[in-house]
Amino acid sequence: MVSGAGGVGKGTVVKALVDEDPALWLSRSWTTRARRQGEAQDAYHFVDRATFEAHAEAGGFLEWAEFLGNLYGTPFPDPEPGQDVVLEIDVQGAAQVIDRHPDALLIFLEAPSDEVQEQRLRGRGDPPEQIRERLAKGVEERAAGRELGGERVVNDDVARTVAGIRALIDRHRAAVHGR
Ligand code: 5GP
Repeated sequence: MVSGAGGVGKGTVVKALVDEDPALWLSRSWTTRARRQGEAQDAYHFVDRATFEAHAEAGGFLEWAEFLGNLYGTPFPDPEPGQDVVLEIDVQGAAQVIDRHPDALLIFLEAPSDEVQEQRLRGRGDPPEQIRERLAKGVEERAAGRELGGERVVNDDVARTVAGIRALIDRHRAAVHGR
């Protein structure tokens, strides 16, 4: 599970991890957020609030949370045998998954500095108001993430970060699953 505030580079890091290792199975979340310009059609399962709420009510999510006015949720995963599930979720969702699966590996990604985080948010074209909101929220999330424990990884260089997380996954597979 990879968590961390907006703009720390979760998406890039997770994509690289999953592209490299066929034994990793990436979950596709549901969201009520509108698709960003240029965002892949399949980045999320985009739904309206009523559809999301009906699915949540029916117990269809492993976890779900509200983040800055939108709902995000992880459907129950359906990996191939032998695959490990990868979730990219916010801190509230990570806390719910840890409750259900205390053995899960939690990677909490942080940006090397506030400036870098802000640049990353700007780079993806979010409106200035949203950037401010997400940065402020990020301060809260970092505190909550540190409280939640897990492995804190500073994303200063994508290749190095991915290699570091790979090593953590290998160690976790050996320790928890004996493989
Ligand atoms: P964004 O709008 O930037 O795509 O996502 C906002 C936040 O929601 C990010 O921290 C992202 O990791 C998180 N998120 C994405 N999918 C899920 C999910 O299924 N559950 C939860 N709890 N958070 C999610």
